[in-house]
Amino acid sequence: MSAGASPRRVAVLGAGIAGCCLALELARRGADVTVIDRRAAPMSEASRFNEGKIHLGYLYGADPSLRTARHILPGGLAFAPIMSELLDADLAPHATGGDDVYLIDRDSVVDAPAVGDHFDRVSALVREQPDAHRYLVDVSGARATPLSAAELSAIASPRVVAGYRVPERSVDTGWVADRLAERVLSDDAIAFVPGVTVSGVDVDPDGAEVTVRGEPGFGEGYDVVVNALWGGRLAVDREAGLELPPTWTHRVRWSLFVRTREPVDAPSAIVAIGPFGDVKNYDGRSFYLSWYPAGLVAQGSAVELAEPELPTAAARESFIADVRAGLETALPWIDDVFAAAEEIRIGGGHVFAEGTGSLADPASGLHRRDRYGVSRRGAYWSVDTGKYSTAPWTARRLAAEIMESR
Ligand SMILES: Cc1cc2nc3c(=O)[nH]c(=O)nc-3n(C[C@H](O)[C@H](O)[C@H](O)COP(=O)(O)OP(=O)(O)OC[C@H]3O[C@@H](n4cnc5c(N)ncnc54)[C@H](O)[C@@H]3O)c2cc1C
Repeated sequence: MSAGASPRRVAVLGAGIAGCCLALELARRGADVTVIDRRAAPMSEASRFNEGKIHLGYLYGADPSLRTARHILPGGLAFAPIMSELLDADLAPHATGGDDVYLIDRDSVVDAPAVGDHFDRVSALVREQPDAHRYLVDVSGARATPLSAAELSAIASPRVVAGYRVPERSVDTGWVADRLAERVLSDDAIAFVPGVTVSGVDVDPDGAEVTVRGEPGFGEGYDVVVNALWGGRLAVDREAGLELPPTWTHRVRWSLFVRTREPVDAPSAIVAIGPFGDVKNYDGRSFYLSWYPAGLVAQGSAVELAEPELPTAAARESFIADVRAGLETALPWIDDVFAAAEEIRIGGGHVFAEGTGSLADPASGLHRRDRYGVSRRGAYWSVDTGKYSTAPWTARRLAAEIMESR
């Protein structure tokens, strides 16, 4: 690449929401983009199989400093505007229709008054944002509304001690994944290379080129390489000579994606914080169900965590039963969703986070999410997506920075 020119040949490692949004943003700015992934198609891992909560910061009540809420909020507010532009579609029909109901369990690591206080502070923060009206719904008047005793007992078991309606929404990640993959595959400026497991990179010390190595038999040089491998990211960062974070945890979480025969009248509800599970109702017939203790199928602090195979036959039934039993302890009406189910799929993926510990421990670093973003060594960049909800915003800013980097 000639000095002073924008990088032309950019390789993006990983075709999740981070890599796909980045590829589209780079292509719009004139780069020739190659997206490399071990899977046969883009959007095949965590970015397809999560509940798609577009965070405003309410969930992070165990971080009273509000650092997490402040870090996460700009990306959440920008999600719908950026994605509707990239996908050329309105997201509203593919988002949960009502406010989320947050339910505070008696064993919550943050007690009910402290959660109420946190919700009020987050609402005030949201109301201050000039672009609050551009969220999936207008949240410029954001408030968390406590449930009355009658409302609470109608919706939750006695182990739930308080509840709030909170104006957060989730998107149907399956719909987004299909549409985003289609956009990447049909963009003339983007080449998708499937079936390559990236094993390392060689970063030229004078910054001129980065070579990507992968299996089977892949080796190619680029002006710029961006690592958006999520679960596979640290192993390649280490090879590239980037400093790794002081501590981290890899987790693999599975959940249920349920389609019902007929509409079920159920809220989108979240049991927090400590005991953790949730239900997302996207359109009355498509549901996401998770119970964290059942769904956490692997956890570790090695550089890479091997992903277990999805369960088959008997193991599948017992996994479904465990999620159901967990949710039933707090949400007795969940039986209505299972009774009406015509299809139940198990899906999931990686969660990478700085910090260690367990969600049941109030002091765990995993309750904070304010330490993710982009790092760089010469022409090699690495992006810790942090959250699905912040990926498009991060990608847009990163693409601009890369194209201005010379
Ligand atoms: C159950 C669950 C629920 C979640 N809920 C939410 C939520 O509600 N809201 C939210 O904001 N976030 C949520 N998250 C987190 C969110 O899913 C992730 O932050 C986000 O999807 C990460 O996107 P990504 O593009 O970085 O990673 P991915 O979507 O995992 O993409 C990474 C890609 O890299 C590829 N890859 C990895 N290693 C290699 C390698 N060595 N070589 C080649 N290819 C490789 C993979 O095949 C994959 O396609 C949840 C996660 C899970 C698992």
